[in-house]
Amino acid sequence: MEKLNVEKIREDFPILNQEVNNNPLAYLDSAATTQKPLSVIRAMEKYNRSSNANIHRGAYTLSIKATEEYDKAREKVRDFINSPSTSSIIFTKNTTEAINLVAFSYGLDNIGEGDEIVVLITEHHSNILPWQMLVQRNKAILKFVYLNEEGLVDMNDYKEKVTDKTKLIATGHISNALGTINPVKEIIEYGHEKGAIVLIDGAQAVPHMKVDIQELDPDFYVFSGHKMLGPMGIGILYGRKEILESMSPFLSGGDMIEYVEEQSSTYGELPYKFEAGTQNVEAAVGLKSAIEYLEDIGLENIKKHEMKLTQYALERMKEIPYVTIYGPENIKNRSSVISFNIDDVHPHDVATILDSYGVAVRAGHHCAQPLMKHLGINATCRASFYLYNTIEEVDQFIESLKNVRKWLGYGS
Ligand code: PMP
Repeated sequence: MEKLNVEKIREDFPILNQEVNNNPLAYLDSAATTQKPLSVIRAMEKYNRSSNANIHRGAYTLSIKATEEYDKAREKVRDFINSPSTSSIIFTKNTTEAINLVAFSYGLDNIGEGDEIVVLITEHHSNILPWQMLVQRNKAILKFVYLNEEGLVDMNDYKEKVTDKTKLIATGHISNALGTINPVKEIIEYGHEKGAIVLIDGAQAVPHMKVDIQELDPDFYVFSGHKMLGPMGIGILYGRKEILESMSPFLSGGDMIEYVEEQSSTYGELPYKFEAGTQNVEAAVGLKSAIEYLEDIGLENIKKHEMKLTQYALERMKEIPYVTIYGPENIKNRSSVISFNIDDVHPHDVATILDSYGVAVRAGHHCAQPLMKHLGINATCRASFYLYNTIEEVDQFIESLKNVRKWLGYGS
């Protein structure tokens, strides 16, 4: 396996080669969204120049071409996550829509009064609110699993929270707010032993590590194209085929039907049953190209590079006395996300000051307000690294961090 050549990679991401506030841009917000390589931009342009038409609806050549492109994208996703079948790969708008699809289509019919749903306290709002809405409608119960002293999911608490009444468990693979890698295989196995259905939110995992559906064996697994070098507007729901087959459609309308009569209809086969209306074919084409790019570099190489940057950043941040770092102590349990605060400075001020040095980090609750409350804080700053970030950018980030308190008039 060839080592990752970051200088060469950066040539593929022209957006990174710019100045922000008279400094080179250091884009450290890939956990929010990633940048696109030229190959992805070009693949979408080529599709628009040569193949764009509405899919499935035409007997004419261009529509057939567009349909083929869409099918190829689905097959690429299937292969990438080792799903047993393309029928299990549903294209959605994003992770959020994929979770809502499961909550409303599976949940409303299968989770009733007194039934329990278990989530982790680290979940993104996208993996909390759909369940809240479901339990409110169907009088079910939503339970949270908390963290242990090492900042990891407390598996004892998990095993206590999962009971005979648990119908569904929904957990993140990697926390977007803390970077914690959760033991999802163990979570899934235990959930299944107890007879529950398990959904994994892999929005922060699929871009950074090999996810093998057949090895993990979740019932549902969801992620977004825009966090893995692809375009916005496309997400993926993997679902176990038998479960998807038993579910009612989430959205209804064109393209998801078999026959429509005045008063009733029958629905199309998987995966079309869950893809109502005109689909984002251009984004699917871009996603396929993004996966090819990731495969070309190699997820193992990407992971090694990210962890080198993360370890270096953590070491340098720990040298700064007024910086608090959140998340697991042991780097083995971390992804390339670092959540932190600076004493006496609001994270939004930190992010604004860093921006004046060209450094782009996120500040806020990271759509994880229950977690923030659990940690006794309102917000953090978050730096996140990907394959195109460099050690020099980490240095730029650290040097800028050291200036934050000075800017605000503190001695150090
Ligand atoms: N879950 C996690 C863990 C995330 O990081 C995000 C995006 N921040 C989401 C869900 C929601 O993703 P999207 O906005 O693409 O639906």
